[in-house]
Amino acid sequence: MIRSSVVVSAPAKINLCLGVGGARDDGFHALATVYQAIGLYDQVTVRPADGWSLSVTGHERIQVEQVPADESNIAVRAALLLAAHHGIDPDVAIAIDKGIPVAGGMAGGSADGAATLLACDTLWGLRTPRGELLELAGELGSDVPFALLGGTAIGTGRGEVVTPAMTRGEYWWVVLEADVGLSTPAVYREFDAMHGPRAVPDPVIPDALMEALRRGDVEALGEALCNDLQPAALRLRPELQRALEHGLEETAFGALISGSGPSCLFLCEGRAHAVQVASALSGHQLGPVSFAPGPVPGARVVG
Ligand code: ATP
Repeated sequence: MIRSSVVVSAPAKINLCLGVGGARDDGFHALATVYQAIGLYDQVTVRPADGWSLSVTGHERIQVEQVPADESNIAVRAALLLAAHHGIDPDVAIAIDKGIPVAGGMAGGSADGAATLLACDTLWGLRTPRGELLELAGELGSDVPFALLGGTAIGTGRGEVVTPAMTRGEYWWVVLEADVGLSTPAVYREFDAMHGPRAVPDPVIPDALMEALRRGDVEALGEALCNDLQPAALRLRPELQRALEHGLEETAFGALISGSGPSCLFLCEGRAHAVQVASALSGHQLGPVSFAPGPVPGARVVG
């Protein structure tokens, strides 16, 4: 069947723990992380066209003007990569509608890359095997394979090697966004500067965190959350420390910076608790506050 359009929805990711090792020979840092996909989404619509084009819109709180509209956009790179892989022309009009903060440490760009891979694969009727799609995703960026997979997963390598993890129950997250994003490379540079020439130990995933996820124990998970990039992100944005403390004072079970920041995450016991913590945090006027459950599925065709 020739389709006139395909719509794919892809979720934001958070890192329940983010263990960062030393820089590798290829410049990337070795990671040991536990990803979780949460219910904040970008939507990508693709349509047949002559050549490629891109348009970007977004929720009013999203700074879409910071999203590149040229070939550096990861959605365009995804379409070009998939077309080249199959030796076909990248004839597609791509429309991104963003609900995931830009440069917020929640992998919105990666979600768009994964969504575009899946959308173009469906539009062009390619039926690329899942393993091949995951490999192409890994070429686009470290977080893109997870955006395809979704759920909760362990990430190793530079984050692109993903293995689904066993979890029980649902977790509710309050997300505090910042008005100005943080550049991921800048946070890694700060991380390197803080460690100096000392060897960085190999990153590990705490047993307590995996155990808490297996049991669905929110309180234990709150205590086990960890992020090796947090000290570097806090050096660049010291005011976030107060934001994390406010969340804990407002009864969140755990608080941490999402990935390279600056979004802050607060773990809650359920939806009602998330509503309560989100409204209390909104009162501090630190930035836009939302809440979402996890884990949710990865990129999927919704229309
Ligand atoms: P990371 O995945 O590195 O943690 P992030 O979640 O902090 O990134 P993203 O929203 O993914 O941030 O964007 C990081 C940068 O990538 C942006 O500042 C922007 O310049 C560029 N970019 C390229 N394509 C996209 C896209 N489709 N959406 C958002 N940003 C994009």
